[in-house]
Amino acid sequence: MHHFQYKQDELHCEDVPVREIADQVGTPFYLYSHATLKRHFLMFDKAFEGVSRLVCFSAKANSCMAILKLFATLGSGLDIVSGGELFRGLRAGFSPDRVVYSGVGKRVDEIDFALEQGILMFNVESMEELEVIDQRAGALGKTAPVAIRVNPDVDPKTHPYISTGLKKNKFGIDTETAFQTYKAADKMRHIRVEGIDCHIGSQISEVSPFKDAMQNLMGLVDALAEVGIKISCLDMGGGLGITYHDETPPGPDEYARAIVDTVKKRPLKLILEPGRVIVGNAGILVTRVLYRKSGKGKEFVIADAGMNDLLRPSLYGAFHAVKPVNLTGTGVIRADLVGPICESSDFLASDREMADAVGGDLLAVMSAGAYAYTMSSNYCSRLKVSEVMVKDGDYHVVKERQQYEDLIRGESVPPFLGTD
Ligand SMILES: *Cc1c(COP(=O)(O)O)cnc(C)c1O
Repeated sequence: MHHFQYKQDELHCEDVPVREIADQVGTPFYLYSHATLKRHFLMFDKAFEGVSRLVCFSAKANSCMAILKLFATLGSGLDIVSGGELFRGLRAGFSPDRVVYSGVGKRVDEIDFALEQGILMFNVESMEELEVIDQRAGALGKTAPVAIRVNPDVDPKTHPYISTGLKKNKFGIDTETAFQTYKAADKMRHIRVEGIDCHIGSQISEVSPFKDAMQNLMGLVDALAEVGIKISCLDMGGGLGITYHDETPPGPDEYARAIVDTVKKRPLKLILEPGRVIVGNAGILVTRVLYRKSGKGKEFVIADAGMNDLLRPSLYGAFHAVKPVNLTGTGVIRADLVGPICESSDFLASDREMADAVGGDLLAVMSAGAYAYTMSSNYCSRLKVSEVMVKDGDYHVVKERQQYEDLIRGESVPPFLGTD
């Protein structure tokens, strides 16, 4: 359920007509519903009621400051994968002791930043990384709380680019090696073994891969207990899918049930790192049609948003529903919805039945709250678009559209190239 619905043939975000915002802030822009964001976070958290837990929203799904602030206020922790995300999270009001840090390529300056702030846990992805963290913690006079990110070799049955828990993926450490890594960690002077972690992929639409991963991790927890290494935190990562088209992923309740039964029997604190399931259907991308063009047996709708604004269709062949902002009098055509970028992969929808939209019409690209703005770029020197949040009957520009000057900020032309 989300708050992007038609009222008298006009698409609304909560109580505000999308057209009204488009006319005032210009297109393209991302539009988020406060009520949907809040509802999704609280529903997810409530699904784990009665369990000692911390839901750490995954910043890379959407790191808009207003959205981070909302989740911080609702009691969320934060899952980060870079120093930049830590910076954003702290500025948005997350307490460092509610931050978990994942990623295969943490730099020394990023590790230092996280150690100085005192984050909850590093999710360590290699032996070399563990050694660097131990050494940096020693140098800074700290003890680093760690979990080993285990690669449980389960097939999440999702797109190969977003599957992360298979042997062939770069993520985590396989179960046998992880056992040895824990034994090494246990002996390191500046490391404290805190938890165990996995994240098997994204847009997962059934519970069985989570159950399999959980089984695998519990085996390791037991083996570690036998050698006197106690695990107090179980981080199950993120990955729960959403409906973009006709997927039928389990709801948070079903997902929680699959996980909780095992955890309840053990003195483990549960950490979850949901991203997409919280924000994916809480945002849309609003774009205006520029032109129509008929190719040989092919119809093109050319919009002012492209792959630099929303990369998922180009990167994963991802499906995003496309809806007209105004429903009146729209026939249906089969077309490609494309952007202005000079790449043939620049499409938002391919060979799709969609509204017979002409120049000037507004379209809503649905389910664009996750991995959307965060993946946008300045390719072709296009300005990053604005982000708008609606609450009840009002809207707020929470990120301004870039201006041309932003494109060259920080650039300099050396004197030997002349001054004019
Ligand atoms: C991306 C990511 C998440 C969030 O994944 P979703 O599929 O958006 O829930 C959680 N944990 C880690 C380590 C990630 O890299």
